[in-house]
Amino acid sequence: MRIFECTRCHHAAFFENTRCVHCDAVLAYDFEQDKMLSLEPMAHTPPSNQPSSIYQSFTDGQKYHLCQNNSQYGVCNSAIAEKNSGQYCSSCQLNELIPDLSVAGNLAAWQAVEQAKRRLIYTLYQLGLPVNRDKNGLPTGLRFAFLADSIGQNNVMTGHDAGLITINIAEADAPFREKLRVDMGEGYRTLLGHFRHEIGHFYWDILVRNSKWLSEFRTLFGDENQNYSEALQRHYECGPVPGWQSDFISSYATMHPWEDWAETWAHYMHMIDTLETARFYGLSLDARISLDAETLSTGSIAVKKADFKELMAGWIPLTVALNSLNRSMGLKDPYPFKLTSHIVQKIEFVHRLINN
Ligand SMILES: [Zn+2]
Ligand SMILES: [Zn+2]
Ligand SMILES: [Zn+2]
Repeated sequence: MRIFECTRCHHAAFFENTRCVHCDAVLAYDFEQDKMLSLEPMAHTPPSNQPSSIYQSFTDGQKYHLCQNNSQYGVCNSAIAEKNSGQYCSSCQLNELIPDLSVAGNLAAWQAVEQAKRRLIYTLYQLGLPVNRDKNGLPTGLRFAFLADSIGQNNVMTGHDAGLITINIAEADAPFREKLRVDMGEGYRTLLGHFRHEIGHFYWDILVRNSKWLSEFRTLFGDENQNYSEALQRHYECGPVPGWQSDFISSYATMHPWEDWAETWAHYMHMIDTLETARFYGLSLDARISLDAETLSTGSIAVKKADFKELMAGWIPLTVALNSLNRSMGLKDPYPFKLTSHIVQKIEFVHRLINN
């Protein structure tokens, strides 16, 4: 993730900010232009005394309106150019179902879910992947449903089905998530991680299935035709095979080639986002990744297009530093993964597929 700035006062701004902490301008991210906008509300037009819902950019006077999930619920910080008629930003328009907001706590959970989702969507755009529409302008079918368990009903399963990504909003609750992480013996469990995993299934369907990549996929990840429900049952009954760490990024990845793919895909997204952030803070722990002015200005694109060996050379020392910094603060390792050559081969496959 890049670090943005308020274009009015040039103070640093984060992706999630809604106000400039220095000059109080309204900040809103525009997915279409990939820009953080500094805005001011336009004066109301008499005879109405209602404040105007139209905002004007401090830099070029362009007019915008806020995404409805921004103005109405505060779960989004996007603006949309006034000439575009849609109510919702590129991220919010993918929502098919949102939680029941009459239930206490659901708004806060939804807010956390949307924040993770916006990061996901940001990186997908940076990677040039089809999000709302494919290269022919047709809808990709990607949608999101954010649901809560209700008493007496089946638990909501986080998962992907034919373009619909369902997230159980209980995952926004840190104690709930941490308990599951420990119960399931996972090293890493985050909302953002769920999004990156599930979107991996979505892209398998549209980029790997029926493509020239399928045979290489099978060589690296195994045959996806093996029975999924049997694999699931075996995984929960017997656990991963001993020594799984040399071939799989996580124990969950051992379950079925599709899960190995989704876990590997998610890992690639972790890498790209974290490397991009590091670069914007001027952190480079390997001289082979240059930090010249041109690279900085092109930011994520440079990370994406970088040679895979370069990415890896930058990534490994960065993760060591990341863990060490956290240990200095008495925190657990944010990067509890070990990359072996087989795992790196699989990540490289994802890199090649995305950048081909
Ligand atoms: Zn400012
Ligand atoms: Zn929005
Ligand atoms: Zn999965």
